[in-house]
Amino acid sequence: MQVKKPPHFIPIRYIKGVGPKKAHLFEKLGIENISDLFYYLPRRYEDRSEVVQVKDLKPGHTQAVMGKVLKTNVFTARTGTRIFEMSVGDEKDRVFAVWYNQPYLNKAFTPGQKVVLHGKVELGKTLQMTHPAFDVLDKEELKDSLDVGRIVPFYSLTEKMTQRYLRRVMHQAIKAHASSAPDPLPTKLRARKKLVDTKFAIENIHFPYSAENLERAYYRLVFEEFFILQVIMALRRGRIKQKGIRHEAGQGLLSEFEKLFNFELTGEQKKCLREIEKDMSSEKPMYRLLQGDVGSGKTVVAMYALLLTVRNGFQGAMMVPTEVLARQHYVTVSKTFMPLGLNVRLLINGMDAKDKETVKGELSSGEADIVIGTHSLIQEKIDYSDLGLIVVDEQHKFGVEQRKTLRAKGRMPDTLVMTATPIPRSLVMTVFGDMDISLLKEKPGEREAVTTYWVGEDRREAVYEFIRSEIAVGRQAFIVYPRIKGSSRSDLKAAEEMHEKLRDEVFSEHSVALIHGRMKAAEKEKVMKDFRAGKHDILVATTVIEVGVDIPNVTVMLIEHAERYGLAQLHQLRGRIGRGKHASYCILMGEPETEASMERLSTMAETDDGFKIAEKDLDIRGPGEFLGTRQSGLPELRFGNIARDFRIMEEARGEAFKLVEEDPGLRDRHNSGIRESIKERFRGKLGI
Ligand code: ADP
Ligand code: MG
Repeated sequence: MQVKKPPHFIPIRYIKGVGPKKAHLFEKLGIENISDLFYYLPRRYEDRSEVVQVKDLKPGHTQAVMGKVLKTNVFTARTGTRIFEMSVGDEKDRVFAVWYNQPYLNKAFTPGQKVVLHGKVELGKTLQMTHPAFDVLDKEELKDSLDVGRIVPFYSLTEKMTQRYLRRVMHQAIKAHASSAPDPLPTKLRARKKLVDTKFAIENIHFPYSAENLERAYYRLVFEEFFILQVIMALRRGRIKQKGIRHEAGQGLLSEFEKLFNFELTGEQKKCLREIEKDMSSEKPMYRLLQGDVGSGKTVVAMYALLLTVRNGFQGAMMVPTEVLARQHYVTVSKTFMPLGLNVRLLINGMDAKDKETVKGELSSGEADIVIGTHSLIQEKIDYSDLGLIVVDEQHKFGVEQRKTLRAKGRMPDTLVMTATPIPRSLVMTVFGDMDISLLKEKPGEREAVTTYWVGEDRREAVYEFIRSEIAVGRQAFIVYPRIKGSSRSDLKAAEEMHEKLRDEVFSEHSVALIHGRMKAAEKEKVMKDFRAGKHDILVATTVIEVGVDIPNVTVMLIEHAERYGLAQLHQLRGRIGRGKHASYCILMGEPETEASMERLSTMAETDDGFKIAEKDLDIRGPGEFLGTRQSGLPELRFGNIARDFRIMEEARGEAFKLVEEDPGLRDRHNSGIRESIKERFRGKLGI
């Protein structure tokens, strides 16, 4: 069926002042119809609302001035530059406006015209403005001007387009069509939240009458965007909560589980186990995110969920991002469950084809209880006999799509997603907004806090002396460099060279070893083994030590050129120490040159809390970089900024979930606008 386009989809070429020729300029900006135009927001604004008389101009200030054109003149300077000059003023005072290489402006002005100029006031022999913005007020009143005498919008432009031109097209289009732009928000909601309507929002986001109106317009647009997004989250969650597997925990499962470990579960681990058990015992499919810093003990929690599903006669699958991690988990999980006789299998691409076939066969026959693998769990054709639980580790590296593919392999299996990167709440709400959340905040075991210092080059000797003093009482140290080899093009210190220098000169009385990513696996293993056994005092390393190293006797980590690392990486690195019962020290040596790198280092020195660091990281890098993958499921937002507008997001979320609970099918006619909005803007992208 052919559907008539609503008026707000009028193609851009039909807008007054555009036409077929100019339409392609707009298309370059991604503007194809009038709705796109309305939502093409200014990049910034300039407050030119205060217009003064010439006598009130202040040199050095940027001001708008109104007066009459007194004289105009085009002349050629000695350099050959054509200059257009005009004087503006009243009887007593005057200011000169000067434009280089724009002689045609001569045609725009005639003496006697009333004009407004806006620009920086300079004082030479006379008062002067160079290339001011201007408006001729012959026919229009000052209040009708688009370029001066108001808060003026500035847009991102494409070649051959000017601010003046775009402002005029925009203004024209708003006058003619803003009142027919649909308003998806129900009137009641708008009233309750004191939100302005769409027409007001569009008018004032482009041509605000006041700063306050601009704020209200912005608030409304951001609210709407977040609201629609959260309605989608609520709908998704509703849909998922159809019919799944009802697991039964049974008496004694937890104590049986606890006996598998030679340590006590922490209070937080128990709390998470209970949350998961409750989800899994319900008929609604579980869809839970388990967040906890590296070393917080997530794997233990996941293992309980795996045991629960196996004890109910189902299979569990655990997907991790790398083969190394898969092997590591495989070893842990199979060892732990050995006493219970569970059948744990590994499935990764690096395996023999024959072994793979065997594992797949065991998965379809039901012989295998648990499988641990990488993407291969999705890519390979696997016929699970009865998949009851999916655990996804390090979720941020897997996209929404992949989660869905794996889920499709069972009949609504329960899903537990784990992430070691603490994700700020604002992002959790957008990217994982359809999930329930469990948090593991404390770390298990006896752990001393890590004290972090940020020092400059001038403290180098003192730092070396400090390392000597730690070694003297039996401790060990890491010294981390950003690269393996030095280069003639940079004066970055590198691991290989520094290893020699530290071994032969600085710490000649101690044993200094080296490890980096280009060494053979066997070599690396030997170095690590010796270091762990205490045969070396200092290990010079690259960031290879970031993952998986756990040596409680190391109490110092010196990170050289610390300004070069991201916050997440610094935090991961630092996580390698403070694992024993001794006080530990992380020393960041760096000479930051940008504000961002300065902020990173001071954040590290201030806090050890992964969540606080993540908030800061999000703040510095923005959500896209933070999640670091296009498939992250991060919605494309046109107005809102996840970090900055977090409070609005929270409010919108509350309203959205309430609305979907009351009207899960969005059948109410007051909610039809929301339905339309979802279809238009987000179809396909958010997986509903
Ligand atoms: P994560 O996956 O969150 O990084 P792990 O589950 O791998 O953390 O746990 C990190 C280390 O802490 C492992 O060696 C694990 O055996 C240990 N561990 C887990 N829970 C506890 C606990 N309650 N008490 C002591 N050690 C624990
Ligand atoms: Mg882990």
